[in-house]
Amino acid sequence: MANQDKKKKIIFTRQEMFEFNKKTLLKRGVTLESIAEITYQQQSKYTDDISRDICLESVEKILSLRDVFHHVQLGAEIDRLAEEGMFQGPIQDIIYEDLGLFGIDETMGLEVAGLYGTIGQTNFGDIDVNKHGIVKRLNDAGKEPGICHTFLDDIVGAIAAAASTRVAQVMNEDLAHEDIGVKRFSIFDL
Ligand code: MG
Repeated sequence: MANQDKKKKIIFTRQEMFEFNKKTLLKRGVTLESIAEITYQQQSKYTDDISRDICLESVEKILSLRDVFHHVQLGAEIDRLAEEGMFQGPIQDIIYEDLGLFGIDETMGLEVAGLYGTIGQTNFGDIDVNKHGIVKRLNDAGKEPGICHTFLDDIVGAIAAAASTRVAQVMNEDLAHEDIGVKRFSIFDL
C-alpha cells in the first residue's frame, strides 16, 4: 500500500497543469478562445488598443497556475459528479439545481479572481452578474436536464476576470517603462 501511494503523482509542472486544464475545459465545452473573448470584451471598455492575443496569452498563463489548476479540476469534477447523481444527501440536489443561495461556487470564483487582487474580484463580480458569452452559454445549458455547470460557470468567469486584470497589469507595466524610456522588462512574472 505504501509503495502504491508513492507512485501517485500529485505534483505537476506548469505546462502539465495548463494541458490538463485545457483538456478538462474542452471536455466540458469551453475553449480558451471563448474565455479570452470575455476578457477582451471586459478590458477593452477600460483600455484602448488591446489585442485578442494578449487576452489569450493571459488566459493561458492563468490556467498554468497551481491554485487555478486545483480549482478547475475540483470544480469540473463536482459538476460531473452532480450530473451523475453521485453525492449523498441534500447537497446533491442543491448543486445539481444550482441553488441561487448556495454561494460556494462563487467563493471558488472569488478565490481564483483574487489571485489578481481586489480588481480581479470586482471584475469577476461584473462577469458573474452580467453573464457574457461563454458564461451565459454555460449558465443556460446548465438548466437543461442532465447538465450541471454550477461550478464551471464561476470558474470560467473568474479565469476571464483574472486574465482581464492581468491585461491591465501588463499594459500599466508597459506604460511605466515608456515613462522611463526603456523597453519592457520585468524582474517578476505578472
Ligand atoms: Mg455557479
